[in-house]
Amino acid sequence: MAKTARAAVLHGDQRFEVRTYPVPDIADDSGLIRVTACGICGTDVEQYAGKFQNYPVIPGHEPVGIIERIGDKAARKWGVDVGDMVAIEPMIACGECDTCRRGLKTCRKYGVTSYGFFPLDTPPYLLGGYAEYMYLHPDTVLHKFAPNTDPVMASFYNPLGAGFSWTAKAAETKPGDTVVIQGAGQRGLMCLIAAREAGAAKIIVTDLAAARWKLDLALQFGASHAIAADKEDPVKAVHDITGGLGADVVLDVSGTHQKPVVDAIKMVRPGGTVVVAALKYRGLSDFRLDDMTFKAVTLRGVLSVDSDSYRPAMALIASGKYPLRDLHTHTLTLDHAERAIKLLAGQVPDERAFHIAIC
Ligand SMILES: [Zn+2]
Ligand SMILES: [Zn+2]
Repeated sequence: MAKTARAAVLHGDQRFEVRTYPVPDIADDSGLIRVTACGICGTDVEQYAGKFQNYPVIPGHEPVGIIERIGDKAARKWGVDVGDMVAIEPMIACGECDTCRRGLKTCRKYGVTSYGFFPLDTPPYLLGGYAEYMYLHPDTVLHKFAPNTDPVMASFYNPLGAGFSWTAKAAETKPGDTVVIQGAGQRGLMCLIAAREAGAAKIIVTDLAAARWKLDLALQFGASHAIAADKEDPVKAVHDITGGLGADVVLDVSGTHQKPVVDAIKMVRPGGTVVVAALKYRGLSDFRLDDMTFKAVTLRGVLSVDSDSYRPAMALIASGKYPLRDLHTHTLTLDHAERAIKLLAGQVPDERAFHIAIC
C-alpha cells in the first residue's frame, strides 16, 4: 500500500490545502482504514466558519472505510479484519467510565474528543475523514457493514444513526404518535425515516419557504404535512392538525435558529417531549421556562449518536427500503472540500445540495 496519504487540511481562515502525510504504523491495539467516503453535515460548515478549536485540522467526523491494517488486539476487540467495510463513530470513548456506560459520548477520560477535530501538531496526523487513510485510535468505536454495501450509501450511517438516536431513543416515539420535525435538512429527513420506522401516524416537517424543495423531499419521503414556518404560523398549524392537543414529539434539527425551540414548547402536547439536537451558541431570548413547566414537558438535549442506534441505521441502509440515493446529490474529491462545504451551506448559487460525500 501507499506510504503516504493525501489529506485536505482546513486552516482557521477558511482555506483548504491538500497536504501529504506519512501513513502511520499501527500497534497491536490500533488500526488504519482506507477512507472510501466521508459524509459532511452542518458541523463541518460550522468548523469551516471557524467556530471550533484546533486549526489547522483534517476535518471529517463521519468516515466510512475499509480496514487496511489492524493489530491483533484491535481485531479481537472490534470484531473486524482486513478488508471489512466499517463505519467509524466520531467520538473517542473509553467505554468504561460512568458516562460511557450510560451510553453518553462525553467520556470522562477523553471529554468530547472526535475524529475530524484533532490538533495537527503530532503524529499520527491522519485523524480526520478528509484523507485517503485514517488512523484508528485504540478507543475507537466502530461498526461493520454488511458485505457489498455501497460506500457512498454507507456514508448515511451517521445522519441516519442520529435519526434513530434522537427520534426513537431520546424522544421515545411510539406507534400512532404525531411527530414534528423542525428542519428539513439531512438530519430532519433522517428523523422522518426513523419516525416512520417507529410507527408515527402523523409527521409534520417545518422549514423556511426558501427550502421549499426540501419540504417537498420530506413529503416524498412520507411526511404527512410540510409547513413553511416563515409563511404560516407553525404553532397554529400543529394545533390545527392535532385537534388542539399538540404533538407528542417535537424534534429541533434546525441548526442555530432559536425560534424553533420557543415554538416547540408551544406546539408539544402536555406531557410530550421536545428534543433539541442543534447547537445555538447563545442564550434563548424568548424562551419561557414556565410554558414548559405548566405542560410538564420533557426537554432533552442530544449531542451525538448512541452506539445502539447505528445498528438499525446500517441495517436500513443495507435493506434499500428507502431511496436514500435520491438524497445524495454530490460526491467530491479531497481537492474540492471547500466546494463541498459551500454546497452544503447553500452558498453555491443555482445548485441544490442535500447529502454530500467526500472521497
Ligand atoms: Zn456530522
Ligand atoms: Zn469513557
